[in-house]
Amino acid sequence: MECNFRLPGPTPLPPRVLAAMQRPMMPHRGPAFKELFRDTLRLARLAHRTDHDVLIWPASGSAGWEAAIVNLLAPGDPVLATVCGDFGERFARVGEMFGLDVRRLDAPWGRAIAPEDLHGALAANPEVKAVFLTHNETSTGVTNPIRDLAAVVREHGALAIVDAVSGVGALPLETDAWGLDLVLSGSQKAWMCPPGLMIAAIGPRAWAATERSGYPRFFWDFRAARASAGEGMTPTTPPLTLIYAFHAALEMILEEGVERVWARHRRLGELTRAGVVMAGLRLFADPVYASDAVTAFLPPPGVAARVFLARLRDEHGVEAQGGQGHMANAMVRVGHMGWAHEPELRAAVDAVAAVAAEFAAPAPDA
Ligand code: PLP
Repeated sequence: MECNFRLPGPTPLPPRVLAAMQRPMMPHRGPAFKELFRDTLRLARLAHRTDHDVLIWPASGSAGWEAAIVNLLAPGDPVLATVCGDFGERFARVGEMFGLDVRRLDAPWGRAIAPEDLHGALAANPEVKAVFLTHNETSTGVTNPIRDLAAVVREHGALAIVDAVSGVGALPLETDAWGLDLVLSGSQKAWMCPPGLMIAAIGPRAWAATERSGYPRFFWDFRAARASAGEGMTPTTPPLTLIYAFHAALEMILEEGVERVWARHRRLGELTRAGVVMAGLRLFADPVYASDAVTAFLPPPGVAARVFLARLRDEHGVEAQGGQGHMANAMVRVGHMGWAHEPELRAAVDAVAAVAAEFAAPAPDA
């Protein structure tokens, strides 16, 4: 049996998305494309819970970090990077590469960033212009309390820039109601599409910041993308097949209902965590902030993650992932975002339990 958990790679695709991708090419400056693209952006605004702009680039999620920096900031600007895992770390590093004055607020891996700590860090760094936040830290299976963190950022008057690559579309996120200035994601996670689109929801304060940016920008220029979107187009050739896919996926999400999609993920998260605990394994994330999009757990004591993963794959056809950075071989992660449902998750959790039991059993000649 092939199970569909391929973090950090793409999640499986719904048949309707696959079918949409078979659609023939169309002229990307013609009326049919304009209609489709306008509708895609409309649906994307609904899914992001925003009345402001959502724009799309051909790219993977990581491009969002660079696009955020070159559009909203200037070299030397002080920013605060919140880091509780490998993706927060990468965002901070990109800031350094671009010559920002990156201050950090770290939380131990497995924990979330605490709003009171953010408050303290901003009080100590009052000149900070933007805060980098990670909605769902995919490397540790932690969902940060973005609503509360963004409220602290708001109070301070900085921009809230949210990497929601593995969160939006799966977990509660209210772009406008929570005052998020920029929400970044990639098509291959909860959006149930192939990799290849970077999606950005851009609020009014972020638009104001684009006027003050001090970086050259061409491909990632938010203003150029907005001007083209006003005409139902993109500044450069759009990846048509991916836009067909994204439109179909957004229709599915909105037909299911955004809140129902969140509730489905909550059930999948609960089911997975309960299964892991029943298998006698230790969850990695602080239970209060455990992600409903990805579950991280420790392999049995003395067993390397790569050995555990090989058994899952070879004996049960379940493709899970190890950890990242210093946890590469010390953590197992099962993704349950996007096109994920209870039957596959139950099968995956049963496989985890079976492999854990094999390691718990005494060796035959012991
Ligand atoms: N941010 C988060 C939270 C992620 O999970 C990922 C990928 O897994 C990225 C950023 C980078 O996205 P990509 O690999 O699509 O460039």
